[in-house]
Amino acid sequence: MVIAMSLSVCEPVNLSACSLCPRQCGVDRASAVGFCKAGAVPRLYRWGVHRGEEPPVSGTRGSGTLFFSHCTLACLYCQNYTWSQEHRGTEVTVEELAGILRELAGQGCHNWNLVTPTPWLPQIRAAAERVKSVGISLPFVYNTSGFERLEVASEYHALMDVVLTDLRYAKPETAAEASAAADYVERSRAFVQWAWENVGPLETDAEGIARKGVICRLLVLPGHADEAIANLEWMAGHLGTEIAVSLMAQYTPVYKALSKAGWNRRVTPEEYDRVACRLESLGFENGWIQALEESPPDGLLGCEMTEQT
Ligand code: SF4
Repeated sequence: MVIAMSLSVCEPVNLSACSLCPRQCGVDRASAVGFCKAGAVPRLYRWGVHRGEEPPVSGTRGSGTLFFSHCTLACLYCQNYTWSQEHRGTEVTVEELAGILRELAGQGCHNWNLVTPTPWLPQIRAAAERVKSVGISLPFVYNTSGFERLEVASEYHALMDVVLTDLRYAKPETAAEASAAADYVERSRAFVQWAWENVGPLETDAEGIARKGVICRLLVLPGHADEAIANLEWMAGHLGTEIAVSLMAQYTPVYKALSKAGWNRRVTPEEYDRVACRLESLGFENGWIQALEESPPDGLLGCEMTEQT
């Protein structure tokens, strides 16, 4: 059954049995919520010009970033927990979402950067169609944890010019403990493989700005450097070493991690160096290695954001 939600738009949005992410809750989001607690109307926490992403994404004029509220994971160390798990933010209609996309394009941003968009894909696509219908277009950066369904990725391929995705864990028990998603490893690896086959290697313009392609992020987690290395080895074996890799040192214990043994500390230099050395010895040549001392404390380095509370 296709039902029309109260989105101030003509297009019907089918959320009557939500299966946008691997949890496939099957709830009618007009009247109930699933794991992510997302309703029918998109909720945004912040949007604006973001200068703290990887260089081809931030470029010189910044990335037009939309931080969506709610998330399909429940990471105990989430730096964005106030909006991903406590759901702060403001509801926006599809028309308002289209207005924000127009505004970011008008500010000269290189791209539209959708952070945790999965629960809102139908509404984002409707907004994108409105903006593109009046001749405004930027590349979409699909900025995801990697916990995705391939069927859904195929359907929303148009929102994925650049795929910025994670491989966080290599053991289901770690994914279950830290993100309540035991199937994260198989889902995230399948997604990055799909993206590699369907979106391809990173391509930049003459100024070094990303036009399309995949960037895989590896956030090194305390006590789990071996899993980051296992993911590098998996990528080298299954995708090759051409893929752009962003090695991230910025893990900071916040939220539930503060009181969780093993998760309540930063990554040590020894742990981080081990992963960085393996990245180099495997032959990865494209990407970035974040310096431990440069890692931003709140993951929002260089933002000029409009905040909704
Ligand atoms: S997007 Fe939310 S409601 Fe839909 S399947 Fe995923 S967790 Fe469940």
